[in-house]
Amino acid sequence: MKTIIEPFRIKSVEPIRMTTREEREQCIREAYYNLFTLQSDDVLIDLLTDSGTSSMSARQWGALMTGDESYAGSPSFYRFKSAVKNLMPFKYLIPTHQGRAAESILFTVVANETHSIPNNTHFDTTRANVESQGAEAVDLVIEEGRNPETEHPFKGNMDIAALERFIEERGVENIPLCMLTITNNSGGGQPVSMENIRQTREVCDRYGIPLFIDACRFAENAWFIKMREPGYQDTPVVDIVRETFSYADGCTMSAKKDGLANIGGWLAMNNEEWAVECRNRLILTEGFSTYGGLSGRDLEAIAVGLEEVVDEDYLNYRIASTQYVATHFDEIGVPIMKPAGGHAVYIDARRFLPHIPPLQYPGQSLAVELYKEGGIRGCEIGTAMFGLRPDGKEEPAHMDLVRLAIPRRMYTQAHMDYVIEVVDQVFTNRENLRGMKFVRQPKALRHFTGRFDYVDH
Ligand SMILES: *Cc1c(COP(=O)(O)O)cnc(C)c1O
Repeated sequence: MKTIIEPFRIKSVEPIRMTTREEREQCIREAYYNLFTLQSDDVLIDLLTDSGTSSMSARQWGALMTGDESYAGSPSFYRFKSAVKNLMPFKYLIPTHQGRAAESILFTVVANETHSIPNNTHFDTTRANVESQGAEAVDLVIEEGRNPETEHPFKGNMDIAALERFIEERGVENIPLCMLTITNNSGGGQPVSMENIRQTREVCDRYGIPLFIDACRFAENAWFIKMREPGYQDTPVVDIVRETFSYADGCTMSAKKDGLANIGGWLAMNNEEWAVECRNRLILTEGFSTYGGLSGRDLEAIAVGLEEVVDEDYLNYRIASTQYVATHFDEIGVPIMKPAGGHAVYIDARRFLPHIPPLQYPGQSLAVELYKEGGIRGCEIGTAMFGLRPDGKEEPAHMDLVRLAIPRRMYTQAHMDYVIEVVDQVFTNRENLRGMKFVRQPKALRHFTGRFDYVDH
């Protein structure tokens, strides 16, 4: 069959409150044209993030009731542990309340001001946690991964030659570990090939540097390997996942992504000395080592989520639904980042709105218009987010994008058809969109709380 259906039916529904354009114009005005300030029940289709927004299955909801809330040694922890080990067989497992807590603990223990941490691309919380130890976070993704228009099956790959050069120049003693983010979130959810994971491992081995995987979207990455990498077409996804982690010495994970849970994360590793220190740190900041900031029922939900996320019918539908949106955008001429990644479609707002200069935030203007036109909430990733320098000066960001992130198992194809229609409508009227300005902004992270208006107001 050509039609790929959602491989689930809906047992419990969450109504969407329908709104009119007039109502939405008022809501967004009252929110100072900042989509983070909106109340989410004023949103029709919420594509702000795929993090923590997954729909849980009936099995996960059932598992919640079996959660054991004992302070120490809960059976829920052991079920969680066995689900993680089934895919990622590291010796030591440290549960955390989300991914950034795992990063914080890891880098507090292993990094200091003399260190550098290479990665294909550091996610923003990873970079911030490396830098908060005074260490340097270095991005070494391949050249194709830096250009939104280049087609490449594995745009998240590490530049192996650059990694070797970097280690030689910086000195092994200054690199406590190397990371690899799968899929490469900051690069648009682009996958990393098994060959590249293996080559990264070989370089790390040659210099005796441990390799850690930022595993947030490990299942989506495995599906891309199965679809695109020669030799893996007939390999079960579970085996691709196990092979992936066999090349690593540890991982950080946010269960809010491919854990199919609404909260949670973990840190795992083989190094006993580091693990002991990380556990001590965990007890200080998160909680005891068998719950780490999570309730027993959260651990149960993650354990079941990890079984469901490697289901191939689920992954087929998941990646197809992202590509469905991207393909239709492409057909109607909407400029997007190519190829589409696993969890989101990125509209190139600078090319969508060439009449709005970057310092008038074309991405913000487009994101606001998608909300006004159809109640869709996306996220500006561009000059509003990155343009303000620490010295107070402003520069255009590298790109001006609007990210439409697709929550897991939440929306149907009809919802996506609606999104395509709204974007088409806005594209037809694009010449009427206007530039924006900040009317109030904090010194850092201004996109979260800043206030906007139109420039000609
Ligand atoms: C989300 C994410 C993190 C951080 O996880 P949180 O659970 O949001 O703290 C780290 N790395 C990547 C690649 C992510 O996508």
